[in-house]
Amino acid sequence: MASTAIAVHQPQAVRRSDEVVIIGGGLAGLFCALKLAPKAVTVLAAAPIGRGASSAWAQAGIAAAVGPGDTIESHVTDTIVAGDGIVDQAIIRAMASEASDRIHDLLEYGVPFDRDLEGHLAVSREAAHSESRIVRVKGDMAGRAIMEALVASVRNTPSIRVLEGYVVEDLIVEDGKVTGVVARDKAGSGEELHRVTGSNVVMATGGIGHLYEVTTNPTEARGGGIGMAARAGARLADMEFVQFHPTAIDVGKDPAPLATEALRGHGATLHNSSGERFMLPLHPDAELAPRDVVARGIFAEVKAGRGAFLDCRTAVHDFAAEFPTVFGYCQEAGIDPAKEMIPVIPAAHYFMGGIWTDINGRSSLPGFWACGECTSTGAHGANRLASNSLLEAVVFSARIAETLKAEINADAPKNWQDGSVTTTEYITENDHPNMVALRQTMSAHLGVLRDGKGLREALATILHLARESHSVRFDNVITTAKLIAVCALNRTESRGGHFRTDYPEEQADWKRRTLVTLDQAHAIIPDLLEG
Ligand SMILES: Cc1cc2nc3c(=O)[nH]c(=O)nc-3n(C[C@H](O)[C@H](O)[C@H](O)COP(=O)(O)OP(=O)(O)OC[C@H]3O[C@@H](n4cnc5c(N)ncnc54)[C@H](O)[C@@H]3O)c2cc1C
Repeated sequence: MASTAIAVHQPQAVRRSDEVVIIGGGLAGLFCALKLAPKAVTVLAAAPIGRGASSAWAQAGIAAAVGPGDTIESHVTDTIVAGDGIVDQAIIRAMASEASDRIHDLLEYGVPFDRDLEGHLAVSREAAHSESRIVRVKGDMAGRAIMEALVASVRNTPSIRVLEGYVVEDLIVEDGKVTGVVARDKAGSGEELHRVTGSNVVMATGGIGHLYEVTTNPTEARGGGIGMAARAGARLADMEFVQFHPTAIDVGKDPAPLATEALRGHGATLHNSSGERFMLPLHPDAELAPRDVVARGIFAEVKAGRGAFLDCRTAVHDFAAEFPTVFGYCQEAGIDPAKEMIPVIPAAHYFMGGIWTDINGRSSLPGFWACGECTSTGAHGANRLASNSLLEAVVFSARIAETLKAEINADAPKNWQDGSVTTTEYITENDHPNMVALRQTMSAHLGVLRDGKGLREALATILHLARESHSVRFDNVITTAKLIAVCALNRTESRGGHFRTDYPEEQADWKRRTLVTLDQAHAIIPDLLEG
């Protein structure tokens, strides 16, 4: 940790020991902050809140058993099936049971969820859900609408101060307890380091998509928070399980825009450049097969040079009205989806692994909590069921807030929010040579299809890049990549999002979650590299 650290914005009126420090301004971080009101909270976010977060890009919506005939039990069962044998049943039961209450919280914060003619919440269907249970906003606008409402609520909540453009680089650990963070302002380009300390720290830094060359995630989703937690000694879980979305739009954009699964739900079909509907022989449900199966089908076509294309021409009647977000992406790329097929490619989309937490969001380190995509609660097992991730973010961030509120005495003073800092700058470091090399390695060997030889090669490259690192931020990123490679090499079977061509079957003795610390991972690296 740098010795130049200085204190910032440390108001006198509240005891430092009462403040809660939240890292991340996506759905998980902001919902936790709102639920903690009127306790004093500082949110540090790498980008202005509502930007630089996957939450704002969610298209489909939130899964909740609130539709006619649907049940919590059915939601639990669908999630367990999708998770391929390693979902934590207590966790998913809590998550599905609390979904309805959290949707009502979001309504109170002003989220304009779609309603039917009788005023009930409108729900739509997504692949692998046995009922219509996705609560949405104007077709595919859920993420944007949710974040707009939450950002407005946060700005109106005096107990929350927001430091925007603050990239957290390290956790402060004193006597084994996490007591604060070290951050760099100006979207990470500032020269000074700032210490922000408090009673508890909540990690809510989102996913890892930008460790890969092709991803649907925003630039900030590079696993830095997970690596930081690992370096501080926290337990991680299920680090080998990355979900690849089958249908990112392949127009050379970074990040790649997403063509939502709902298009296939509407009847859109997949074809290669010869016009073959290649999913038909691969799975009885063809285009509606589980996400990992469709991703592998598309990947094989792309690898073979035939390409993959989504044909929505007859399935969607009024594209601009029914799927405005996807329509906008196509327009930007010069594609008219009413007349042309959309080129698609699998992209790193969601991370089932992350910081291990218990049912209340508590990590293995005292004073340290985590919520949202940077965690591995066990709710998703080896493969996330679509639209369960926004739900996980709100359920477990609310649980953290409830637990902490009972422990914290003082409320925030009246002038607390005056310490907020806003910036409009963004992180742009994807062009750094080490980041480029890392992303290429991850895509080549830790992607949709994996094998022992490629995984060993990837791990060796990652270890080399780690040795060459001269920045704490890259240390965090490379640590996460290393843990993904170690866990993928160690799991000698295929399950959910983790598919090994050298071990293509599931193995009964691998029907368990992976729990690991960085020290434990380091200890097995020599054996793994020997093979
Ligand atoms: C295109 C797309 C569509 C999706 N659609 C759906 C959907 O329909 N339904 C669903 O359930 N899920 C969907 N998902 C997944 C879902 O959006 C995410 O899992 C969820 O939003 C994660 O929320 P979060 O708060 O954990 O992370 P994010 O929303 O990504 O927020 C992370 C925050 O942490 C900040 N941050 C990161 N690193 C640092 C650092 N070092 N210091 C300070 N701040 C940092 C970021 O700037 C951001 O503010 C989708 C994802 C994508 C990419």
